[in-house]
Amino acid sequence: MRIFLPSGIGFCFGVINALQLAKSELEKKEGPVYSLGELIHNPLVIEQLTKKGMRVISNLSSINKGTVITRAHGIDPSLIEEGKKRGLRVIDATCPYVAKVQKIAKFLSQQFYQIVMIGSESHPEVKAVKANVPNQKMYVLSNPAQVKNIPQSENIGVIVQTTELLDNFQNIVKNLVKRRGEIRVFNTICEVIRQRQIEVKNLAKKVQAMIIVGGHNSSNTYQLVKLCQSLKRKTYFVERKEDLNFDELKNFETIGIAGGTSTPREIIQDIKKILEDKFTKEGEKLN
Ligand code: SF4
Repeated sequence: MRIFLPSGIGFCFGVINALQLAKSELEKKEGPVYSLGELIHNPLVIEQLTKKGMRVISNLSSINKGTVITRAHGIDPSLIEEGKKRGLRVIDATCPYVAKVQKIAKFLSQQFYQIVMIGSESHPEVKAVKANVPNQKMYVLSNPAQVKNIPQSENIGVIVQTTELLDNFQNIVKNLVKRRGEIRVFNTICEVIRQRQIEVKNLAKKVQAMIIVGGHNSSNTYQLVKLCQSLKRKTYFVERKEDLNFDELKNFETIGIAGGTSTPREIIQDIKKILEDKFTKEGEKLN
């Protein structure tokens, strides 16, 4: 068995920033430290942080002292105000790429555009963008067929969730142009994600099977799974090494392993080592 990794694995800078903020607050031991929602979408990392004392909360109603760290996906600005009113220290860990999407949404709203966001309605990033333009109706599209729901009479301004698949974004924009003729488009897909998608696509074309490692709740990791499946590549979506299906994996001669931007580099390297130790004959190790 030959095992290949793309060059981009491990945390992105947005995730690193959020984790560093949390760790440094925990080390200060100056009172309780909370994360409003899961700080990043990786259960293993959240487990480690909760062992160190961080508590994940879904709302602010039950707390009135301590430090609250917001997630890299952004947050409803009214919650930051609510936290401050409650006497909490609020640390905003919103990733700069996500903050840029929020800023563009506000700009489009001020310019009287009908905002269309490409992404997943239920994702925290999309919810936070919506919350930043509270007086504006925002359409959220996750596939090209949904373009028919967009009114034909308004000026359309398009933004996109930072973790969206580039191909899906382009297909939806093409349909919007067909329907409306002229639209204003901001490609707000995160640069790190775009690069990962390119590398994973190239890798998936070269191997018989792909293992994508990351939280099942991680949008950008799931997009990598969909990308590999769209290339008709056998794809395994695993959260941890215990999820590996050796009975099936033993049948492949070439395997690629990749992960989302909230997947620790060490888990991917561990999985590679486990497969090498189990299935790679001496002298066959290439990577
Ligand atoms: S994936 Fe991109 S947008 Fe999301 S936290 Fe990382 S750098 Fe920021």
